Parts: sequence; structure tokens; C-alpha cells
Amino acid sequence: LAEVLEYEQDLPSETPDAHVMKLMVNTGLAVDAVASLKPRVSGVGLYRTEVPFMITERFPGEQEQTRLYRDQLESFAPLPVVMRTLDIGGDKDLPYFPIEEANPFLGWRGIRVTLDHPEVLMVQLRAMLRASHGLDNLQILLPMITNIEEVDSALRLIDRAQAELEEDGMLIERPKIGVMIEVPATLFQLGALAGRVDFFSVGSNDLTQYLLAVDRNNPRVAELYDPCHPGVLSALARLADETAALAVPTSVCGELAGDPAGALLLMGMGFDTLSMNAPSLPRVRAAIRRVSLPAARELVQETLTLSTPSAVRAHLNARLGEWQ
Ligand code: PEP
Ligand code: MG
Repeated sequence: LAEVLEYEQDLPSETPDAHVMKLMVNTGLAVDAVASLKPRVSGVGLYRTEVPFMITERFPGEQEQTRLYRDQLESFAPLPVVMRTLDIGGDKDLPYFPIEEANPFLGWRGIRVTLDHPEVLMVQLRAMLRASHGLDNLQILLPMITNIEEVDSALRLIDRAQAELEEDGMLIERPKIGVMIEVPATLFQLGALAGRVDFFSVGSNDLTQYLLAVDRNNPRVAELYDPCHPGVLSALARLADETAALAVPTSVCGELAGDPAGALLLMGMGFDTLSMNAPSLPRVRAAIRRVSLPAARELVQETLTLSTPSAVRAHLNARLGEWQ
């Protein structure tokens, strides 16, 4: 099996009926480890910039960040690299910037932190833009967006960063800008968001956690945390329909996209771009190459009639078994 999977890695991520899925890779640390994947992916769908920040002793400076980001962008150019602005808080702590709260996942995290510390965000934005000079494959993604004002504030800061570089004589094309769909309220503000940004990226990990009100890292309630909960799946299916109607390119970058059954469901719902950790790519590609788009759509329809996560899991396993 391992050999078949390996062999298939150089084949397109295309269904038997020629529906092409874009597979992208999630990155964090050393880009060298994943740079070899360039011929096999459509780019980096999520670069978690907080990861390199977690191993330094202080906030990395603008030059240091520029080097890090340049590495990512160069390794994948001309393919797009979606860089997410710092997403700390929740479970991701920086030793030199401790955040102590009773409910960290409902607290100060993601864009909430960086809008309260625009000096930190501005360094990061300037470094991203500087790094993209001449490559133009940067896309910027905003995490934990809850309110439209947050998007507007972040867009103003991106404009300011671009203007500052221009004053320095560095002309940079404005990157595409997107927001993470991971706070449930954003599901109901897609129109307003679509008017402001170029793309959406669905953070199915946080979206699941917040839709189900289950801490994604708490072992006591781990059994309740399940992206195959019918409520989560129907939210995702509606999201796929609505973003298609709005014509906003939308990818999924949470763990669900890296699970073969999850990837097939997402494909059947209408998502055509999935971003995942490198080790998940072979199995997801293999699943896509074995299941036609109509079959995946049917799988979604069947699944949406089921009323419990365990019924959904059982059904997915049965179907996947038939397709192997
Ligand atoms: C997510 O929430 O699904 C996501 C991709 O972001 P992170 O896992 O880094 O919170
Ligand atoms: Mg998230």
C-alpha cells in the first residue's frame, strides 16, 4: 500500500471523472522539510507564522521575519503561500508573552491580540510584504475574525504597511487577503466579509470546537469533539453553497481536510481546495483518485440524513471500505 501511495503522489489529485482538486500543504517550521512537495501541491494553504515565534526568546525582529517569510515564498514561488498573521492565545503560548486566562479559547487570541498590539502586527506585515517583493505569491490570512470592524482595522494596517514600504522606495503589489472562517458568527456574515476580502479559509478545528462548545484539547470531553457531528457537517455544507453563490474562493485548512473521508465529504459539498499537513497528502490524494464527484456528492447527501456522529462515522467507514 505504501508503495502505491508513493507512486500516486506524482499523479494529479483528480477524480476518475476528471474533477481536479487543489491540494495544498500546511507549514510551520522548517520549510526545507516540505519544499520538496512543490511539484505535488498547489502551494501553501496555511503557514502558521506563530510556530517559528514559539521557539525564539523574544518577538523576532523585522529582518529576521523577512528572512523566514522569504524562505517560504521562494521555496514555493510562483505557487501561492497563504501566510496567517500571528495566531497566539488559546493553546498557543509564547514563553516571552504569557497570556493567562480562565477561558483561553474564548479569550484573547488571534487577531484580538494583534489588533491590541498593532506594533507587533505592523512588524509582521511589513516583513511579509518585504519578503514578497519581486515574487508576488504572498497571500495574507487573518485568524479568529469575529467582527467586521476587525477586518477593516486589519486592512487599514496592511495598507499602512504597504505605504511605509513605498516611502522606502519598495513598490509591492497588494497581496490577496483572506479571513479564517472559524468563529461561528462569521457563518452568518459571509456577505459582509465577501465585500472586503479576496478569499476565505475554513478553520474546521476551531469551527468544530466553537460550534460544539467543546475545548479541542480537553481530554475529558475529547469524545464530544467531532467534526463529523451532523451539526458541523451541515454548517460546512451550507458554507460551501453560500461561498459558491458569493463566488469567494474558499479552502479548508483544518484537520478535516487531511482525513480521507473528511476530504471526500468536503469535495462532495463543493470545496475544491484543501490544505493539510504533509503526511496527510498521500492518503487524501489516493481517496480523491478513487471516488467520482457524483459519488462524493451522494455521500454528502446520505451523510446529511444521519443524526449522530457515530452513525456518520459508521456510514463513512462502510463507504470508504467499498471504495478501497
Ligand atoms: C483551524 O482552526 O482549523 C486552523 C486551521 O487553525 P489552527 O488549528 O492553527 O487553530
Ligand atoms: Mg484556528
